[in-house]
Amino acid sequence: MKKRADLIISGATILSMDADLNIYREHDLIVTDGKISAIAAQGKHDWQALQSVDAHDCIVMPGMINTHSHLPMSWFRGLADDLPLDIWLNHYIWPLEARLLSKSFIYDATLFGAGEMLKSGITMTNDMYFEMSAIAEACSKAGLRALISEAVIEAKMGADYRPSLFVLKYEEQFRDQPLVDFSLAPHSIYTCSSEMLKRCADAALEHGLLIHIHLSETAAEVENCLSEHGKRPVHYLNDLGLFEAKCLLAHGVHVDSSEMEVLQQKPVSIGICTDSNLKLASGLAPIKSYLEHGINLSLGTDSVASNNDLDLLGELSNTAKLHKALNHDPAFLPAIEALKLVTINAAKALGVEERRGSLEVGKDADFLIIDTQSLNSQPLYEPASQLVYATNSRQIRDVFVAGRQVVKEQRLVNLDEAELLQTAGRYAQLIREELGL
Ligand SMILES: [Zn+2]
Repeated sequence: MKKRADLIISGATILSMDADLNIYREHDLIVTDGKISAIAAQGKHDWQALQSVDAHDCIVMPGMINTHSHLPMSWFRGLADDLPLDIWLNHYIWPLEARLLSKSFIYDATLFGAGEMLKSGITMTNDMYFEMSAIAEACSKAGLRALISEAVIEAKMGADYRPSLFVLKYEEQFRDQPLVDFSLAPHSIYTCSSEMLKRCADAALEHGLLIHIHLSETAAEVENCLSEHGKRPVHYLNDLGLFEAKCLLAHGVHVDSSEMEVLQQKPVSIGICTDSNLKLASGLAPIKSYLEHGINLSLGTDSVASNNDLDLLGELSNTAKLHKALNHDPAFLPAIEALKLVTINAAKALGVEERRGSLEVGKDADFLIIDTQSLNSQPLYEPASQLVYATNSRQIRDVFVAGRQVVKEQRLVNLDEAELLQTAGRYAQLIREELGL
């Protein structure tokens, strides 16, 4: 008697990213009710499914998890490049946001960004922006998992703003939308007062929410914190009690060893944003030192306004090679360890490692099928190396989230790409007019 499944991915090389980093060759991945029910040698099992997808000559890996993004910034891609961070923010991004942002602007841009993420193999993102409900609706439609937070900028929201009230409201409102969840995001130490940061810490602890915050992206941010509060950012936030809650610290470029000694005792992870930091010349996160301190690391794309794409696999390749060079050590951050930054360690960073981040029985069926029958992927000796050093994201053929196909043969299943491109053109026109270009 055969056991019934919904879907069988057959004959794949499966990079599980489980605790033993098992790689299964010519195996089937079996999916039932959105979860992985078995990983078994091809044909040597008694599962039967209505749908099956051939994955011979393909690598199947966990869906990638992006730990720092701003999805609704899609329309700002390439708008004001090659500028210092403060000028880019103060002269372009923030004034445009003040004039243009609306629920529909955010919904449309998120839908576009979610499509781009899925095609790039990202199945979950940790996003910070405004209008959480518009982001949640767009991600649900696209089929992208998202942990969504409202960027708390005190000058915009007012000192009385109670972020936890909104998070709880949206958790209730989107209870039946399983792909989205919510967290708390005091934007940064330079946009929130000590009182607001404390309030966020207390609320996160009380309601078991993740805190998502930008930390020490630039040297100037650290200097300002020292002159305003007499302490470096990590010591300042630690004294406010922020790190009692689970935190995702985005960037973490300028963090010294005294700060790492604090972080290693706390439930915090870093979201490294290599491409954004390179492009804005913010510096490079001290990955080696973080790892020596046992601090959990993950990767984030940041927004397309500073990256300028959502190609997390490309970002991973850049990060791995750059830090070998910086440390004068080709053995530093081997490919399989690098892959943890976008899979299991990213899941840990967001507190979802029990459900995602690796391909194991009982976990969510979030995975990618990557075609290796291309000249740049052959011959194939070592799947992890091939993924990090030779594969590009255009080889991501199929993407599944919760067992549902969201990218099929490199086309989005839930969204119309021609329509997304048309919408992009419309917003580009609007922004050109706004800037008098
Ligand atoms: Zn950011």
